[in-house]
Amino acid sequence: MKKTVRISGQVRHSAVDGPGVRYALFLQGCPHGCKACQNPETHDPEGGTEKDISEVIDDILSTRFLDGITLSGGDPFLQPEASGEIAKAAKESGLSVWAYTGWTFEQLTGTGTGDFPVPPDGVKDVLRYVDVLVDGRYVDSLHVDDDRRQECMWRGSFNQRLVDVQKSLEEGCVVEYRE
Ligand code: SF4
Repeated sequence: MKKTVRISGQVRHSAVDGPGVRYALFLQGCPHGCKACQNPETHDPEGGTEKDISEVIDDILSTRFLDGITLSGGDPFLQPEASGEIAKAAKESGLSVWAYTGWTFEQLTGTGTGDFPVPPDGVKDVLRYVDVLVDGRYVDSLHVDDDRRQECMWRGSFNQRLVDVQKSLEEGCVVEYRE
């Protein structure tokens, strides 16, 4: 079992990383290279800070007034073992789990095509514990401006989707999440 996770930071009570009050954990490392990414400091997989996974889980579970957690980055699927353990612990404590990724649902589940960086082994073990996946790279030309925010909540660009992960896994195709 993996013992450590590399993170770039956390926000214990976030209102902007999904619905309700969420513990947003930003995992270090991202291979997607989206143009105009707002978090370039999260790209280096050797950057950020290394933490014990158990310490991160304890911090999440001891934080009061949470509706859920959000795994963001960087790309949390670059560290699938750590993300899976954290997501599992949150889910088993009754918290909802959202995750952001530059990969699409199809790429993570091995049904996508194209020249994307191949996701690491084990990403499906993270998806087991994720309720909603915000998927796809950030595309600057499709940026969601504040005046159109209501049309595309929780996403940076219009190509990204809110995927209902458990229904999508059951049905074998993307089922979009509806609030
Ligand atoms: S996936 Fe996110 S963190 Fe990675 S390059 Fe794209 S916008 Fe930046």
